[in-house]
Amino acid sequence: MSKQAKSGEIVSLYPGSFDPLTLGHIDIIERASRIFPKVIVAIGHSPIKPSLFSVNEKSTMLNKAFSKLKNIEIHEYNGLTIEYAKKIKASVIVRGLRSHNDLVYESQMAVTNRHLYPNMDTVFLTASPETSHISSTLVRDIASHQGKLDGLVPQYVVKALQSKFPKNSKQ
Ligand code: ADP
Repeated sequence: MSKQAKSGEIVSLYPGSFDPLTLGHIDIIERASRIFPKVIVAIGHSPIKPSLFSVNEKSTMLNKAFSKLKNIEIHEYNGLTIEYAKKIKASVIVRGLRSHNDLVYESQMAVTNRHLYPNMDTVFLTASPETSHISSTLVRDIASHQGKLDGLVPQYVVKALQSKFPKNSKQ
């Protein structure tokens, strides 16, 4: 799975639920891959947080999006993000910021991670104006009502969502 990082190479970790992958996530990952030599995109799975897509389905979506970018790896993990970051020897956690709400939550999370592991830094990338309104929660909501998903997620994610919410099964 993990290719060995070259010595001194900064490994960054972009963790998330990706339920499903959106154009907002893709924007952050592409930008992180231009900043850091290596980006590990890690799909977290929680036994208590229900998920529309399985980890395998999420992994297929992410691999489709990034098969051409050589410095991006797709991983899966259980448990605390900070423990996974230590395990893969990441020195930076990357998170995206869309709004004031994200900032409040994400900065608390970043400080807590530094409390748990003082060497770990979190780097925030602000959302791009074209995608800052996109969230997986809203995408799932729109899909469940057969709404238009163009411009929110890639076409293959539109298809995956349509198969979860077939036309004659309005929620
Ligand atoms: P989580 O459940 O960990 O919040 P998500 O998959 O929803 O996982 O999000 C992963 C990261 O991507 C978070 O830092 C989130 O703020 C960021 N993110 C989500 N959507 C966007 C977007 N449209 N633009 C920029 N960042 C985003």
